[in-house]
Amino acid sequence: EMQVKRVVLNSRPGNNGVPDPENFRLEEVTVSPDLEDGEVLVRTIYLSVDPYMRCRMNEDTGAEYLTPWQLSECVDGGGVGVVQSSRCSTCVEGDVVTSFNWPWQTQAVLKGSGLQKVDPQLVDGQLSYFLGAVGITGLTALLGIREKGHVTKGANQTMVVSGAAGACGSIAGQIGRLDGCVRVVGICGSEEKCNALVKELGFSAAINYRQDDIPARLKETCPDGIDVYFDNVGGDISDTVIAQMNNNSHVILCGQISQYNKDVPYPPPLSEETQENLRRKNITRERFMVLSYMSKADAALYELSQWVRSKKIKVLETVVNGIENMGVAFCSMMKGGNTGKQIIKIS
Ligand code: NDP
Repeated sequence: EMQVKRVVLNSRPGNNGVPDPENFRLEEVTVSPDLEDGEVLVRTIYLSVDPYMRCRMNEDTGAEYLTPWQLSECVDGGGVGVVQSSRCSTCVEGDVVTSFNWPWQTQAVLKGSGLQKVDPQLVDGQLSYFLGAVGITGLTALLGIREKGHVTKGANQTMVVSGAAGACGSIAGQIGRLDGCVRVVGICGSEEKCNALVKELGFSAAINYRQDDIPARLKETCPDGIDVYFDNVGGDISDTVIAQMNNNSHVILCGQISQYNKDVPYPPPLSEETQENLRRKNITRERFMVLSYMSKADAALYELSQWVRSKKIKVLETVVNGIENMGVAFCSMMKGGNTGKQIIKIS
């Protein structure tokens, strides 16, 4: 018998509520390490908190591909860990594995078939990258740009990224530059983040949406207009960006986090004025869902790993220690407490 710690859903914030750490509860439970055929005992190393989890806190997630977390049951999401013992033919002790449905638990017995084995060399041993830059958020940035961005080398394009200092945004801006945009401007929520974008990640300019005059700063920093908009946030910020986009330009509709604590469908409805801007200027704005492109994941993860290892892409992370801080870390990320990918180190 082993003593493990786990996090369960304690209460729901309500469809219109701001999530609170009290919505989560830490428990100690005993787990039998005895394995059935096909099972694996894993030790959790890192866990991820992500914006889509806000939907899983509701009884009705509003998305057919997301199941709600159940009250008093163990919460799950992206995780990476190491195999401690195995009765599954595809993994052995010492293997590093990941899953999108990793329980928020320090050690767990899982079905081996639900785990993906990963090669630590791809990330030079930085296993948390499998949850970010060389994982789902990196894939979202890369495939979002490639599938919906229409970025072309030599075409003198300007890209704007919202949520630019977050996990997806910080990678998206760097890929925009590497794929050939001549100008990449980020929008984010603090001066410190603006500095990181320009000084560390090579963005051309950054706009602090809490302080700056966004339309004026966009005019100044995007003198040739905007050709590609990687949208992580939606709401007023996106209306403002779209108003300055060029004819025949493209919105990558990645996420709309400014609307996630509101009881609205996804994607949230646009104002009449923004719809008219899209029509009049022939701007594309197709919904992008990374899970629809998983056939391209292996090649894309390899490309991301090469960029990260050669330092052409710089990875930013905000790491919090301890499974007891999962709820705090999630709520902090939803309010902008993270720069780069929010990671929780478990062991
Ligand atoms: P981030 O690391 O970007 O964290 C969320 C960030 O959102 C915060 O750091 C905060 O930064 C910003 N934010 C929070 N509230 C607001 C607000 N009201 N207005 C503007 N910004 C806000 O998370 P991810 O990179 O994981 O996710 C980014 C987006 O990508 C989300 O919308 C997510 O749903 C989406 N996504 C989509 C996928 C897909 O397949 N389409 C897959 C993965 C993610 P700040 O300080 O700047 O406010």
